[in-house]
Formats: sequence, C-alpha cells, structure tokens
Amino acid sequence: MRAVAVFPAERSLRIVDHPEPRRERDTEVLVDVLEVGLCGTDREIARFEYGSPPPRSPYLVIGHESLGRVREAGPAVTRVKPGDLVVTMVRRPCPDPACRACVVGRQDFCFTGGFTERGIKGRHGFMAERFVDDQRFMHVVPERLRDVGVLVEPLTIAEKALIQVYDVRARLPWTAAGAPAGAEHGERAVVLGAGPVGLLGALALRVRGFETWVYSLEPEGGPKARWAESVGARYLSAARTPLPELAARVGNIDLVYEATGAASVAFRALAAIGVNGVFVFTGVPGRKGPIELDAEPIMRDLVLENQLVFGTVNAGPDAFAAAVADLARFDARWPGPLRALVTARHPPEDAPGLLAAPAAGIKTVVRFAEAR
Ligand SMILES: [Zn+2]
Ligand SMILES: [Zn+2]
Repeated sequence: MRAVAVFPAERSLRIVDHPEPRRERDTEVLVDVLEVGLCGTDREIARFEYGSPPPRSPYLVIGHESLGRVREAGPAVTRVKPGDLVVTMVRRPCPDPACRACVVGRQDFCFTGGFTERGIKGRHGFMAERFVDDQRFMHVVPERLRDVGVLVEPLTIAEKALIQVYDVRARLPWTAAGAPAGAEHGERAVVLGAGPVGLLGALALRVRGFETWVYSLEPEGGPKARWAESVGARYLSAARTPLPELAARVGNIDLVYEATGAASVAFRALAAIGVNGVFVFTGVPGRKGPIELDAEPIMRDLVLENQLVFGTVNAGPDAFAAAVADLARFDARWPGPLRALVTARHPPEDAPGLLAAPAAGIKTVVRFAEAR
C-alpha cells in the first residue's frame, strides 16, 4: 500500500510501497486513513532535522494528526466498531517499569524520554492507506465532524494546557474547583500566534467564556483578524501594539497561551502577564541564537504577583476526549470559522512537495480516497 516516508540517511522524502498492516492481537484495530494534517513537526522531519525511523527500517512513515475509519476490529475490541470515525493517539509508553508516567498510561508525562511516537520517533505514522493500532489509543469522533475531525490532534495541545490551567486555577481560593472559568469571572486570555495551534486554542478559550485576544504578526483588518472577530475574540497586530504595550491594551492578563515557538516573542511576553497570571508555553523554538532579555522585572513580577509559568507537550486520553467534545461545541457555535481552519486538501502524492515548500494557509491536510 502507498505511504509517505522520509529516508533520513538518504535525505529523501517520497511515496513508498509499505507492507500491508496486520492485526496481531485481539485488541487491535485496522483503520482506513481518511485525512492526515501537516504541521511544523512534519516540516522539521522533512528537513531531516527531527524524527527517527523504527529500528532496522531505513525510512519513517510520517504523519501524526490522523482521522480514520475502522475497517476491522479484533474480537476483544470494545471501544470502537467497524465504520466508526477514529482519531488515534501519537505517543506510546517507554519500556522502563520505573517510569511512573508511562506505567499509568500517561506517556505524555514520560520521565525517561524513551517513549515512541507514531510518525515522529521510532514508530511509523499514519500517512498511509491503512494502519493497525491497539484500541486503547483510539477515540471515536461523531460522524458529523467528518470534515473537521483531523483537527482533534492539534486541538489536544490546548486541551492538555487548559486541563492544567484549571488545576492551578484552583489555588485561588475564590475559584471553587470545577467552577467554569471565563469572562463572567473576569478572566482574560491572550493567544500568542495565529497558526493552527493558536487559533484552535482561541476557540477552546472562547467556548469556556474567556475574554480572548489573539496577538500575531498579521495586520489588523486582515483575514486572521476577521477570523478572530468571527468567533468573538479580539485581534491585536504586533505591528500596531508592541509587546510592552500589550498589558495596557488588554488589562490584567490572567492567561497567556503561547503558540509561536519564537523565544524572542515568548520571553518578552512573559512581562505582560498580570497579577496571579499563568503563562503556558506550547511552541518548540528552532535554534535562532541567544536573545537579550531584561530578566529582573520578570522575576520580580513572578514573585510579587504570584505568577506561574509552565510548558506542555503531547496529550493524554483526557485531552483527546476533551478535544472531541470541544470540536462538537465549536461546530455548534462557529461552524464556518471552524471549517475555515482547514485551508487546503491534497492527495498523498503532493505531500513531499508540500512539506518541502514554505507553509501556506492555516492547516493543510493530506486526503486519502475513502474506500466504501
Ligand atoms: Zn502536529
Ligand atoms: Zn516513560
């Protein structure tokens, strides 16, 4: 069957004839791939800067943002059934029995770094006509989300971040644990960056009632600004509002959700978080050299204003379940803006060229023909 694969030793990215996957255990599921989203991680892998093939394989089948349809389920499978739309998780546990995270199925918090990731690290990905995986890594997506289900995996980044934001918000005595956060409670969030991770994060914040500002490079009045306004968020252009003026424009910033991957932007924005504010890093920076930073005011505010900074990567089953549920809420409230996030769909043959070219649009998706 056809798959899109990277050969790091040869520095080549091409379509390969990959062996047909087979179910070997009773809990395994055979899935027909429908769509696979492309992201910055795939581009790094395509530039041979990141990613590793499985042991003894000369190539890695790429793709980790998948939507598929169950073709066959093993006799012990209970979570999914043939015909179901499914999104499959990416990370698999490390083999160390002392890793408390992986032992409890939370390899997104793996201590050892010995985890594998489908399409990224030591395990083939989903950009193939079919794949097999264990049912426990699969999440069913309602049929009416067929055309946006590919956004579940990139949305899990915001979901895992917000699960943790709610955990730490419970430190504030006036926020009863489990009470809804949002503007009605005076909560303001700023999303840094208007790529897919940032815009999906903005939807996750809006649906929870946060007064949400999107801060990015594009001019005010442009497509990103209009998109933000269409979901009830406000847009600030970095060209009009330099970072030192951000807090003056927005007010007390309770949450910054960083989705730029640019250290120069992110660390300068640290100074903008307000009293009791939380700053979440989600972007992985490339190597762009040292930046200059006036750290004293940042450190002073962190202490004197009870601020909290954390980073988050990958996602557990709770974030996947939340992403599926939120996608249905986005679909009910903002069906047009939600669909506008997928800006291009291409056949698998186009994937090598797409990954070699600069990123364009918001989310580019590789679409496989649906077998009936
Ligand atoms: Zn991705
Ligand atoms: Zn581990």
